[in-house]
Amino acid sequence: MTQSSSNTEIAQYIGGARTAGSGTRTQPVYNPATGAVSRQVRLGSREDVAAAVAAARAAFPAWADTPPIRRARVMFRFLELLNRHKDELAALITAEHGKVFTDAQGEVARGIDIVEFACGIPQLLKGDFTDQVSTGMDNWTMRQPLGVVAGVTPFNFPVMVPMWMFPVALAAGNCFVLKPSPIDPSPSLFIADLLKEAGLPDGVFNVVQGDKEAVDALLEHPDVKALSFVGSTPIANYIYETGARHGKRVQALGGAKNHMVVMPDADIDQAVDALIGAGYGSAGERCMAISVAVLVGDAADRIVPKLVERTKTLKVLDGSNPAAEMGPIVTPAAHSRITGYIEQGIAAGARLLVDGRGFQGSAAGEGCEQGFWLGGTLFDHVGTDMSIYREEIFGPVLSCVRVPDFAAAVNLINEHEFGNGVACFTRDGHVAREFARRIEVGMVGINVPIPVPMAWHGFGGWKKSLFGDMHAYGEEGVRFYTRQKSIMQRWPESIGKGAEFVMPTAK
Ligand code: NAD
Repeated sequence: MTQSSSNTEIAQYIGGARTAGSGTRTQPVYNPATGAVSRQVRLGSREDVAAAVAAARAAFPAWADTPPIRRARVMFRFLELLNRHKDELAALITAEHGKVFTDAQGEVARGIDIVEFACGIPQLLKGDFTDQVSTGMDNWTMRQPLGVVAGVTPFNFPVMVPMWMFPVALAAGNCFVLKPSPIDPSPSLFIADLLKEAGLPDGVFNVVQGDKEAVDALLEHPDVKALSFVGSTPIANYIYETGARHGKRVQALGGAKNHMVVMPDADIDQAVDALIGAGYGSAGERCMAISVAVLVGDAADRIVPKLVERTKTLKVLDGSNPAAEMGPIVTPAAHSRITGYIEQGIAAGARLLVDGRGFQGSAAGEGCEQGFWLGGTLFDHVGTDMSIYREEIFGPVLSCVRVPDFAAAVNLINEHEFGNGVACFTRDGHVAREFARRIEVGMVGINVPIPVPMAWHGFGGWKKSLFGDMHAYGEEGVRFYTRQKSIMQRWPESIGKGAEFVMPTAK
């Protein structure tokens, strides 16, 4: 069990066993805190995808026929194992992603929420029945699994985001192929081990590591019936279009630019806490991170000095240090993308109040000199035409935009092309209600900076933050991973009226 924490190469999990697969390429996996290459991940080939899909397809008939309550019992055992091993999973996340350990524990906990939801699958799959739709005739609907379904997931939540998908898909009777991010691939194999230990039959859950080659193979494979994607907007768009062209059901969750409005009547200290936590938590590498503070009226002059002070004193430390508030950036490529945006912001005329580029890894802990470090960065007087406002930076950079009133704040947000999460801090119930109703964003927080919906409500943004019709998990997730069948029945005693040539109506 849990060989994923050992020093072996990270490879595939197909048909209930680890396998190197046939891929010839590998990619380094970093410890972002030290900058060291800790392991290599073997990138799966088209043949590996074909083998995983074949294993899943072979396992599907028996798994789909397993009574939902027995599938739920496997989920219950998985839940117990997750609770037993949750800190090991969190440590794996910190080692490869860099986020602070307590934040990684929170990620695992939010994934566990979805497993708890999936344990209720018998109730969720219950169909509708109408007695006597016509004399002697009944009609009912049931939901059946699709077959082999796939998930392609991002680096920033290597446990929680796969758990938005596979617990619901498996409980509903599907077989699953997970293609995790190659940046932090180890948790996927740990999860595969736990599912096997929970009694999941071989082939029902498979993992293919990899990049575009593996994803394209999944998108084009005729036996993959549905694909869930979470990642950046350009790739989400590509996945949605390509999947649809190949006749698949697709939900593709994309990037974000989340605003937090601070009204003049808000509790300023609470708003500062919220902006610091939601802006710099997980080094801003969350799809629900707040990256724009919309400061209304005189709230701006009261809040900005406090933000400066708190940003300068953020505890940027190795994520395994219990005192850490923020860890390193995930990769050197992400680090240079973020510093590039800071340069663009300065060039465009935004006022740089705190510059995180000077932060030295040596201040983060012993051995961190070569890590991918950046301090919290704060801009004021950011304009809506600037790239730091329009584009997703996905790093610890918070931009303050000043607006005169509530209407201007709502217009600004509604005109942005992303619509994942948003928050409004106010003490006025009417303002809060208007905000929740008028804002064109999928997930709204009122005095809640990161309003990630609970397991039974479903997660999804609007506009360029989601391609597809259904949100992840919750009842939308159950609908996504099943298709409805309608059955009409009547029995011999009520038959025998001869052929009918008009549309049947109730008699
Ligand atoms: P990414 O788009 O680079 O990668 C996501 C997945 O797609 C990975 O598995 C990756 O291997 C694969 N991929 C990358 N390039 C591909 C290509 N050309 N063709 C096919 N597949 C490809 O995203 P990331 O950097 O791993 O994650 C960060 C992004 O994810 C951010 O934009 C963030 O907002 C977004 N995100 C969104 C949500 C949400 O719920 N909306 C949640 C988490 C993360």
